[in-house]
Amino acid sequence: MKILVIFAGPLVWPSWRGRALGLVGVLLLTVLTEVGGLLVWPALGLAGALRLRLRTSLGLVGVAYALGSVVVPPVAARLGRVPLPCLGHPHLAPQSLGCCLLHRNYVRPELHAELLAIAARYAEARPGEQVRYLDAGFPIRGLPLLPHLSHHDGRKVDLALPGRGGSPIGYLGYDPPPPGTPPACPPRWLDLRWDLDPIQPLVALELDVTRASELVQASVSRRAVGKLLLEPHVEARLSVTSDKIRFQGCWAARHDDHLHLQLR
Ligand SMILES: [Zn+2]
Repeated sequence: MKILVIFAGPLVWPSWRGRALGLVGVLLLTVLTEVGGLLVWPALGLAGALRLRLRTSLGLVGVAYALGSVVVPPVAARLGRVPLPCLGHPHLAPQSLGCCLLHRNYVRPELHAELLAIAARYAEARPGEQVRYLDAGFPIRGLPLLPHLSHHDGRKVDLALPGRGGSPIGYLGYDPPPPGTPPACPPRWLDLRWDLDPIQPLVALELDVTRASELVQASVSRRAVGKLLLEPHVEARLSVTSDKIRFQGCWAARHDDHLHLQLR
């Protein structure tokens, strides 16, 4: 066996099904994590060349992904991106560890510093509580972080809105507008708001208005923060007014399950 098979990745698998499965897996990992497809490519080549069974191959791919992930932070740092803390930080944590495992927690150093300052300010009023972040950015400025097309520059991050319930990943379970609130957007047969009404009984968020106000206040008080995106019915209930708080418009995902923060 030539060591060069690792460059061929899943293309050396003997069956066309294996090759197709490997390529789809690489594509999926690339879309989800940016670097994951690259990390597992050599392992897929090795598994194909050694004719490993599927389960063993998946194990090898998992090990390659884990080991490869260790080198991602130093490489990203050289390219101007740093990871937000995943475990052990007293004030800032991911809503879901999946965000870290998928390398979706990278930002530019200035946003990293701002978020730590915002989380520290929030914790002054709420000792022991953490600000939870959702998707931030990829380790390298390159591929778009789907579905957040604007997060490509490392200067944007989504934060969980404080409250009870909500979905485990922080997205898709929203705080419903109070009865009688006029719709923020006219009903359309197709839009990009991701309402997902059928699953709301399972994942709806009950917004904690006081905590949400404290989080928004801690954010807008930072000079480097340029904009926060929120649904109008959430903004209307906050005890904060700021021209930095904007509506994202009707052609973007709704922002009453999370808020979007970006630097100026
Ligand atoms: Zn966002």
